[in-house]
Amino acid sequence: MSNWQELEYKYFMPTFTRLSLTLVRGRGARVWDEDGREYLDFVAGWAVNSLGHCHPTVVKAVTEQVKTLIQVSNSFYTIPQIQLAELLVKNSCLNKVFFCNSGAEAAEGAVKLARRYGKLHLGGAYEIITTSGSFHGRTLAMVSASGQSKFQRPYIPLPEGFINVDFNNIQAIKAATTCKVCAVMLEPVQGEGGINLPDDRYLETVRAWCDENGILLILDEVQTGVARTGTLFAYQQYGIEPDIMTLGKGLANGIPIGAMLAKDSASVFTPGEHGSTFGGNPVACATGYATLKFIIDHDIASNVKSVGRYLTDGLRNLAQKFKFITDVRGPGLLVAMEFSHDIAPQLTMACLDGGLLVNNLKPNALRFIPPLNIGNYEVDEALGILDEALSSIASKI
Ligand SMILES: *Cc1c(COP(=O)(O)O)cnc(C)c1O
Repeated sequence: MSNWQELEYKYFMPTFTRLSLTLVRGRGARVWDEDGREYLDFVAGWAVNSLGHCHPTVVKAVTEQVKTLIQVSNSFYTIPQIQLAELLVKNSCLNKVFFCNSGAEAAEGAVKLARRYGKLHLGGAYEIITTSGSFHGRTLAMVSASGQSKFQRPYIPLPEGFINVDFNNIQAIKAATTCKVCAVMLEPVQGEGGINLPDDRYLETVRAWCDENGILLILDEVQTGVARTGTLFAYQQYGIEPDIMTLGKGLANGIPIGAMLAKDSASVFTPGEHGSTFGGNPVACATGYATLKFIIDHDIASNVKSVGRYLTDGLRNLAQKFKFITDVRGPGLLVAMEFSHDIAPQLTMACLDGGLLVNNLKPNALRFIPPLNIGNYEVDEALGILDEALSSIASKI
């Protein structure tokens, strides 16, 4: 057998901090490494495998589409693209869809759309207000948009036109709103930044402020969308509607896809103003359609609510036992556990040894983002492994 990890070191740019594990196979909520060892997967490709690994509905959609039509240019109509767009529109508050290949590209498209809107309706306004701790992707412009200096510092000078203000601070948004601003862009719940929840009424107040000033509200639901938080889209829990919304991660269960949706009032692109070679690719869209339809038809969002509650209850019970657990938070199956010490890396390793994959969100926090169709049984198993991992760490604190 090849030593894949040595070959990676030799041939791959060292952009990722990887765990020493080469995964070769997945089924449901489980994956296997090259030695045949089984792991319960509470990372799910970073909140991507909505229905778990190799779900039969997803496999069928991919295989049927690759046998039928893999790719043609966007100068022709293709059916899966239109079917997925219709399904998204019929199940959201948005009216028009653009498909791309990743979350960053969706957010980038949202920014371009808002700038077009600013040119047409707001006297050339182009600035976008974003928040600290936010994450909108890794393109140069989205690094500039994301309010995290660790991603920005290596690439200064950054594209201009983004104002990063504190999250959960409506006064900061108000203070930053000048006649140059065309939109506010937010994640309803900050994912990569730490699973940071919006304060009561924050999102409603931002929505009202945008309305008052005639500027757009962009919700980046790349991580929170597609039932991850217990409703099909997170905005539905906060009594607001975005003008523009982005999706990615869980939409096609692992086939790369991004989507940018807008209300008719904000859908101002004209032919040629935006595009993508692979965006709306038949395989990605057929898979997205099968995934989303399954999630809707089987009310997976309700499962996320109940299993998510079961998971957070279980994690809170562990917090009773281990006093160095300082917080458990998150909607649905987007859950963080925070600690008084920077033990997340060791804990991630201890969980791995026990057969559980978890995400090391921050030095002092873990993130749990399992497939959305898991049951309490898998949660019990994960909690058992986590309990042992916490016990093994406890003595060293
Ligand atoms: C992951 C993520 C992105 C970037 O998605 P990529 O597919 O990695 O480009 C953008 N926004 C949010 C909220 C995300 O969680």
